[in-house]
Amino acid sequence: MTNVTIDQIIRSKRKTLSLEITHDARLIVRAPKTASFSFIEKFIFEKRLWIQDKQKMVKERLLQSQTKKFIDGEEFLYLGNTYRLYIVPETTFPLLFCQGFLLSRAYLSEARQLFIDWYKQEAYKKIKERVDLYSNLFGLKYNKFSITNAQKRWGSCSAKNNLCFSWRLIMFPLQVIDYVVIHELAHIEEKNHSKRFWNKVKIMLPNFMESRKWLRGNGHLSIV
Ligand SMILES: [Zn+2]
Repeated sequence: MTNVTIDQIIRSKRKTLSLEITHDARLIVRAPKTASFSFIEKFIFEKRLWIQDKQKMVKERLLQSQTKKFIDGEEFLYLGNTYRLYIVPETTFPLLFCQGFLLSRAYLSEARQLFIDWYKQEAYKKIKERVDLYSNLFGLKYNKFSITNAQKRWGSCSAKNNLCFSWRLIMFPLQVIDYVVIHELAHIEEKNHSKRFWNKVKIMLPNFMESRKWLRGNGHLSIV
């Protein structure tokens, strides 16, 4: 009916419908216990422009607040841990990782690109290592491996079994990386999200649901 998604409906003794856009741009509808779903949908349809405007505004603000500023003491994620950024006197190295990120003052203007390059390099090493580990362990042969720039598509497996992973994954805990790796490896045999597919994932990674939920709630942390 609309391209607006209702994230949650909270029913109570109230008499009218109300809408809430949360700080992370989710839409919550509060409704009387007896309100039918079609009644709620009709209401959402009438309010769709307001909802879309408000969600857009909230998302932009959120993005702005999450974009890194590269100031001394700012925190950066790596494998699920938080590390501080230290701006150090001008040195020959641009960016060093040593229980924290040391960024040479002379390279401040290139900070974002330096971080992205560092993350990409680490992502390539670490994710490839996990892919090869599980590929051998479970006998799932892939064709090519590559790292992408995707913001939300954490991984993919093509018809030719080429695997792609976003470098942003390297910021997340290893068990979350493992889930994405195993998810894509499972697509080598099942090119869909059927019950059979999820069963395969579960056999390879019994607690995968935790990581799936983590990704849904924390994926936005990968903004640099
Ligand atoms: Zn999938």
